[in-house]
Amino acid sequence: MSESVTNWAGNIVFGALRLHHPGSVEEVRDLVAAGGPLRVLGSGHSFNRMADTTGDLISLAGLPRVVEVSADRKSVRVDGGIRYGELAVRLQEEGLALHNTASLPHISVAGAVATATHGSGVRNANLATAVSGLEFIDGSGNMVVLTRDNADLSGAVVGLGALGVVTALTLDVVPAFSLRQYVYDAVPRASLVGHLSEMLADGYSVSLFTDWTGLDANMAWLKRTEPMSGPWFGAQPADGPRHPVPGMPAQNSTDQSGELGPWHTRLPHFRMEFTPSAGAELQSEYHVAAADGLAAIDAVASIRSQVASVLQVCEIRAIAADSLWLSPNYERDSIALHFTWIADTAAVEPVVAEVERVLAPLNPRPHWGKVFTMAPADVRAAFPRFQDFAELVRRYDPAGTFRNEWLDAILG
Ligand SMILES: Cc1cc2nc3c(=O)[nH]c(=O)nc-3n(C[C@H](O)[C@H](O)[C@H](O)COP(=O)(O)OP(=O)(O)OC[C@H]3O[C@@H](n4cnc5c(N)ncnc54)[C@H](O)[C@@H]3O)c2cc1C
Repeated sequence: MSESVTNWAGNIVFGALRLHHPGSVEEVRDLVAAGGPLRVLGSGHSFNRMADTTGDLISLAGLPRVVEVSADRKSVRVDGGIRYGELAVRLQEEGLALHNTASLPHISVAGAVATATHGSGVRNANLATAVSGLEFIDGSGNMVVLTRDNADLSGAVVGLGALGVVTALTLDVVPAFSLRQYVYDAVPRASLVGHLSEMLADGYSVSLFTDWTGLDANMAWLKRTEPMSGPWFGAQPADGPRHPVPGMPAQNSTDQSGELGPWHTRLPHFRMEFTPSAGAELQSEYHVAAADGLAAIDAVASIRSQVASVLQVCEIRAIAADSLWLSPNYERDSIALHFTWIADTAAVEPVVAEVERVLAPLNPRPHWGKVFTMAPADVRAAFPRFQDFAELVRRYDPAGTFRNEWLDAILG
């Protein structure tokens, strides 16, 4: 390519020969028919080489936008290039909502579900669980349509881009709802020890943040319907708006005044019109069983000075169990420990390996879209349905059109 294409964080320069911007599904089909290697690039917010290729990249951002609400108003069909931020506004206009969002609205729906992107909430499963229908062009150029009647759907939704080009998705929707957001400072370690699951369940969506310079959590962000006042588990209400990352401008964050507002203006931490998070960063994340949440916190605490030396912020969230084969929440109510690192791969990777070492006894499952150093065999072993997924890849992409080095290593 004449100009190098990178992921959002800039830590990955894609080795692709060309970046295509098809304007129709037919053009996508022609690109696949021309042969691989091919990969789809969503909004590029993943931090590893999963979207990389030595062949051609396809961006679906230029496809005509599709937002088709079903007659019973229980689902919406969208195109494979739409971002959550755009979809959320359209759904709100229709009086509808998604059950949850990630921390940012900037990501594409297809890319997010391919990696099992999630928000928080003990009763909220990840975003991929909303997918009731998947339309993709497989490695042989066939248009495949899967719905919940087809057993393959549970394997194909969190598909890592390995089965084909997802050109449309159908998502469950719910009636629009409103939430308030509150931020609390300084959550005492004693509260985490005694009440972790109660705290994470005390709202529609709850996040705890820490920089690991101490054992208390620095902040709690609560998104809920009921108003709050006074201390919360020993933490004090913040005296003004906050950004999750220390030192970043609070204006980039969603409203924290406690006023009721539409779901899509409260569930994400970051506003669509600003850069989310820090910008200069790497990210990693590990999911453990909810019952092991405190053990995972203690494990990271045991190496906290190492972690703090390359960390911007760590976020702790709850995610409900699901039945998607490659979901880190597969048949396991989960607690996820997310790390926003400094933008220095060489300094961060040894610490990532240390985090993986201390979490290993808890059978952690990594976030597919973030930085991890776990051996591929350990990754495969962490996902009970991994071999079924590998079989699905062989069936839908027998010639390896969508394979790349990252996927070859993971699939083994
Ligand atoms: C600032 C920031 C905040 C984040 N917050 C969260 C969070 O709150 N929760 C969370 O779980 N994650 C979070 N993430 C991670 C992010 O949600 C995932 O990396 C997600 O995959 C990004 O979507 P994307 O469209 O950018 O995907 P990309 O990175 O572009 O692609 C991811 C994978 O999906 C494939 N793919 C993309 N589109 C298609 C398609 N149409 N057909 C087939 N394959 C496709 C790609 O080939 C690739 O393998 C965050 C990332 C950033 C940068």
